[in-house]
Amino acid sequence: MADHHLKIETLAVHAGVEPDPLTGAVMTPIYQTSTYAQPSPGEHKGYEYSRTDNPTRTPLQKALAELEGAQHALVFSSGLSAIDAVLNTLQAGDHVVAGDDLYGGTYRLFTKVIARRGIEFSFVPAQDLESVRAAIRPNTRLVWLETPTNPMLSLVDIQAISEIAHSAGARVCVDNTFMSPVFQRPLELGADLVMHSMTKYLNGHSDVVMGCVMLNDSSWFAELKFLQNAVGAVPAPMDCFLVLRGLKTLAVRMQRHAENGARVAEWLAEHPWVERVIFPGLASHPQHELARRQMSGFGGMITFFLKGGLEESRRFLSAVQLFTLAESLGGVESLIEHPAIMTHASIPPAIRQEIGIHDNLIRISCGIEHIDDLLQDLKTAFAAVESVAVR
Ligand SMILES: *Cc1c(COP(=O)(O)O)cnc(C)c1O
Repeated sequence: MADHHLKIETLAVHAGVEPDPLTGAVMTPIYQTSTYAQPSPGEHKGYEYSRTDNPTRTPLQKALAELEGAQHALVFSSGLSAIDAVLNTLQAGDHVVAGDDLYGGTYRLFTKVIARRGIEFSFVPAQDLESVRAAIRPNTRLVWLETPTNPMLSLVDIQAISEIAHSAGARVCVDNTFMSPVFQRPLELGADLVMHSMTKYLNGHSDVVMGCVMLNDSSWFAELKFLQNAVGAVPAPMDCFLVLRGLKTLAVRMQRHAENGARVAEWLAEHPWVERVIFPGLASHPQHELARRQMSGFGGMITFFLKGGLEESRRFLSAVQLFTLAESLGGVESLIEHPAIMTHASIPPAIRQEIGIHDNLIRISCGIEHIDDLLQDLKTAFAAVESVAVR
């Protein structure tokens, strides 16, 4: 097996896990323990206290590193605490260049929490390479990217930005939550660190909040491992077990998410009540070429503008039945939401307008249900909007 690289479908099932040495249990046991007996002081089997390490967490970290093609992985109790750990490796006076269309919670963490530590941020439209180049300063240490962005699904050229950042001595971090390692490989494109909200596709079942980072640089990893233990935002053994289970179907889930995403996007694009659909897999996406080059699939996230305003959006979102009106994404069930009121409410209205998060913008996370049922539900919801409009 040494020189044969296992495919991601196989890694998703097998990476990181081995039958339990004690019992032969095929599935990793849930080591629901905070502490570990020592035969004599300081003598132990690698586990002393579960904030530091836990035998259900270790195989999960191994699996994640292998899936992303990284040397190291660390898990945290949420996506945001994973991001916080990365930013915690900076010092007061350091500068970060970040995309201007980030997950709302990431923007809030940067501007309301991490900025208080004396770290400066410049938010730029990172799909424009010149804006990234122009924002870099001598004290720029990190470039933080999301691609596709959320909710505008703009793409950021990871390879080109990595070259720009590296020539200025800055590291590149990519939030790969939307694509998962199945469809996008930031480390292979030159990024230094990948972060995921595992709450989304990696776990995939909307029953856990967790985050992770994957990277190759061993000294940066040691610093992050120190912070994982020193700050203590670690996930519970039960949650690690659930994510290990969720990972096994990651590749097949992503395939179905992407198939449904493409069908729903094409269907919406033809609908008379839809002003515009944003989906990287549509030829009409302004960066469709980059999408084809940078990703091996287009995922299940779709953003569209309804014809009308807040009233029509409310009516549409109240009429869906199969799609659950809820924040979050990446679960097996289809979700739908209104970014301006829900996920992106923490972004000031003026900035929302600038980015394009208008009141008629709706975001869909396509689940793995049958496509006919999904389209029927959307059809019924559009009919509800229309029936009021006609009256
Ligand atoms: C959800 C999400 C986060 C935050 O992760 P949590 O697990 O909710 O803390 C960060 N980035 C993206 C792209 C997300 O979708």
